[in-house]
Amino acid sequence: MYYFDPHIHMVSRVTDDYETLAKMGCVGMSEPAFWAGFDRGSVDGFRDYFRQLTEFEPKRAGWFGLQHYTWLCINAKEAENVALSREVIAMIPEFLDKPGVLGIGEIGLNKNTRNESIVFLEHLDLAMKTNEQILIHTPHLDDKYQGTRMILDMLCGDARIDRSRVLVDHVEEHTIRPVLEKGFWAGMTLYPVTKCTPERACDMIELYGPERLMVNSAGDWGPSKPTAVPDFIIAMRRRGHPESLIKRVVYDNPLEFFRQSRGFDFTPPDVLRTHFDAPPRSQTAATARR
Ligand SMILES: [Zn+2]
Repeated sequence: MYYFDPHIHMVSRVTDDYETLAKMGCVGMSEPAFWAGFDRGSVDGFRDYFRQLTEFEPKRAGWFGLQHYTWLCINAKEAENVALSREVIAMIPEFLDKPGVLGIGEIGLNKNTRNESIVFLEHLDLAMKTNEQILIHTPHLDDKYQGTRMILDMLCGDARIDRSRVLVDHVEEHTIRPVLEKGFWAGMTLYPVTKCTPERACDMIELYGPERLMVNSAGDWGPSKPTAVPDFIIAMRRRGHPESLIKRVVYDNPLEFFRQSRGFDFTPPDVLRTHFDAPPRSQTAATARR
């Protein structure tokens, strides 16, 4: 089955992961900007990161016929440095018209602090002024319920925001209902240790139905599994769910949401196949650099 991973940090993955994803039916992915594992020291560090996201990752994905899209922001973990955050927010428009840029994200809260809220609201303002879609990160574990409530309050407090153009990721059993009820899209992140498992994602599909719901792997530099979406597909099949329902969650829904972005120029895989580039197997490191 073809699928699309709507939230995966491919900069942290090796090229073999792109190959594995392609073999498993992945046709594309969207990669939000996130924390590098350390706080970056300057706006130029972010400019280089955004170049990697918009220039090199689409090329690397293309070696396997995968279509790569991205979202830009400074993440909540670095928001305590409000001055740097403002420099980054002011620089983001340099990249918004590049091919494959879907919007502002993943923005949100981490420890639910005042500075995080300030930087979150300034990202929202940028998204509204530039007519961009929004991808939201909700906090981990103990901070998730409170943080999700704060995020939803801030989103709902801005009358300019079209809720059908906002995806709230990392929802769990205790946060999914308000996100969907308020009219936002919701993403379940399948993670080996925290967040959600494929089985729990199946439970939530059974409880809430497939409308405005997606699943993602979030594959990053920590313990994570880039092939978690295929695990979800198998878990759904094991429960006897029809292929049409599974396809809606893993393929149709991401495309429906992303098509609202002007940077989403997606070619369906059956059409793309005729344009498939030579895989990098035939390339040396020297030719790949060109
Ligand atoms: Zn993420």
